[in-house]
Amino acid sequence: MVKKRITILILLVFIFMSTSGCAVKDKANPTGFAYILEQAGRETYDWQVKAAPAPEKPGKQDQTSGYASQPGKIAYLTFDDGPDSINTPIILDILNRYGVKATFFVVGTNIEKNPEVLREIVRRGHALGNHTYNHRYTGVYSGVYGFIKNVKVNEELIFRVAGLSPRIVRDPGGELRNSQALKRVLTQNGYRLVDWNVDSYDSRTPSSDGAIIIENLRRQAKKQYLWPEMVILMHDSNGHLNSARALPTVIEMLLKQGFKFEVLK
Ligand SMILES: [Zn+2]
Repeated sequence: MVKKRITILILLVFIFMSTSGCAVKDKANPTGFAYILEQAGRETYDWQVKAAPAPEKPGKQDQTSGYASQPGKIAYLTFDDGPDSINTPIILDILNRYGVKATFFVVGTNIEKNPEVLREIVRRGHALGNHTYNHRYTGVYSGVYGFIKNVKVNEELIFRVAGLSPRIVRDPGGELRNSQALKRVLTQNGYRLVDWNVDSYDSRTPSSDGAIIIENLRRQAKKQYLWPEMVILMHDSNGHLNSARALPTVIEMLLKQGFKFEVLK
């Protein structure tokens, strides 16, 4: 009799547990392996959403149309020393938001690290310039042969990765200005040297913050003799996040002043 009662009691406890909140609670908040699976699923979903945003309609984001450009006011935004895996994509997205095209003077050793970023620059319709293969002053400025070799190796690399052979070259540090021999060898090989006449000073040490970069450009953009061809030096290489942070304000400031953005060829 006692044995029978104990059996009934065990049965009643089992029925209570299987229909109580415990079982429901476990299903809503799985633990152990079920929890890991659920979390993994959630992370995969989030990642896919981030990796594949809805495509933007070209032109819809173009914010330059709200500003009237004034004749004879041209700004060329140029970004040196990239491509970089972090800063260049940020800059590309900002340029896209404003419908502005820029010119990227790329360095071979960074192209080798970030070939897909170089292709993205081209896909988005920006211009490329040659900024030598390794940007090392000792090799680049060792003489005419060392210089032109550094340019040509970079040109071959740009062609292999992006299918383009830019004709414009920017000399690292602008050191070429005093060398007639190096200028001549560039011209003889069909290149055009393009320096800058407006410096954002974003490569100064310690690095300029965004507000200083904006102020540097605001001050120089007042000089009327620069207006017909304002070639602005900025950097998209590693360590130049402040340049990207300053960029939206720089673009808006120049648009309000009536500048039209173009690319170098
Ligand atoms: Zn450089």
